[in-house]
Amino acid sequence: MEPKPVTGRFAPSPSGRMHLGNLWSCLLAWLAARSTGGGMVLRLEDLDPDRCRQEYCDQVMRDLEWLGLDWDGQPVYQSRRFDLYAQAFHTLEEQGLLYPCYCTRAQRLAASAPHRSDGVQVYDGRCRSLTAAELEELGRIRRPAWRVRVPQVEIQFEDRLQGPCRENLAWDCGDFILRRSDGVYAYQLAVVVDDGAMGVTQVVRGSDLLSSTPRQLWLQEKLGLPHPEYGHVPLLLSPDGRRLAKRDRDLELGMLQERYSAPELVGILAHAAGLIPEPAPISPRQLLPLFSWEKLPRADFSLEL
Ligand code: GLU
Repeated sequence: MEPKPVTGRFAPSPSGRMHLGNLWSCLLAWLAARSTGGGMVLRLEDLDPDRCRQEYCDQVMRDLEWLGLDWDGQPVYQSRRFDLYAQAFHTLEEQGLLYPCYCTRAQRLAASAPHRSDGVQVYDGRCRSLTAAELEELGRIRRPAWRVRVPQVEIQFEDRLQGPCRENLAWDCGDFILRRSDGVYAYQLAVVVDDGAMGVTQVVRGSDLLSSTPRQLWLQEKLGLPHPEYGHVPLLLSPDGRRLAKRDRDLELGMLQERYSAPELVGILAHAAGLIPEPAPISPRQLLPLFSWEKLPRADFSLEL
């Protein structure tokens, strides 16, 4: 049976040049959506004014085009959508779910329960029940971040690649931040609002974001938004087995472009994805009939280039 057309998305953070790991997720997200005859939208996640610049956004778009990946309509910039996030924030506030948190970073680190293996800290809830007097006093000292109060609830979902997943929001995650003390809305809120507003029905991204999914599913429910389907692709690691970082310059697209053409790079990634038997040059469009979820690897891997 032909799969139903979905709407997928690219959601890069324009804080530098894309690296091979970003290209890997973008290629798979594009193939997963386009192979159903579905749509693809582009959202530039430039919420953080300290890290994101217009020139990086332009570069991301040039890089996607260079690779042969297209999208529908105009790109969406998160930095221009604060009103939408404010509305959603207000909706949650009206449900009594938000509270101001005055903890400094040092306090948060000291007070949080033991970190989970993926680095998520479970907040101990010290600002959950401040008295009116305490709120007033702290309010004179600094501006608060805002947290959402999560219940003891088990969130379950079926990931296209990682299989059945579950998390108890209160135990495994704890109350999380929706707006930073400098007023910038958090990724978790923006991503949920935008996936909903942009009609995204399929989210394909790196498995480093798997642990964000329960929070996003829960927020979707609180905001009356539909749940997209999720597929978290394994991470492409550096040759010595670490997660790729912006500092891995030799796997940055600028460097790769000096050594490879776009079809060559796509061929290398498609081979790693199990879609072709040899890493031979190929275009994303030629890969469309070859795409299937069953062929994709499940475990993180590195590539010898
Ligand atoms: N902007 C995020 C990143 O580049 C991706 C967010 C998402 O796909 O939900 O890591």
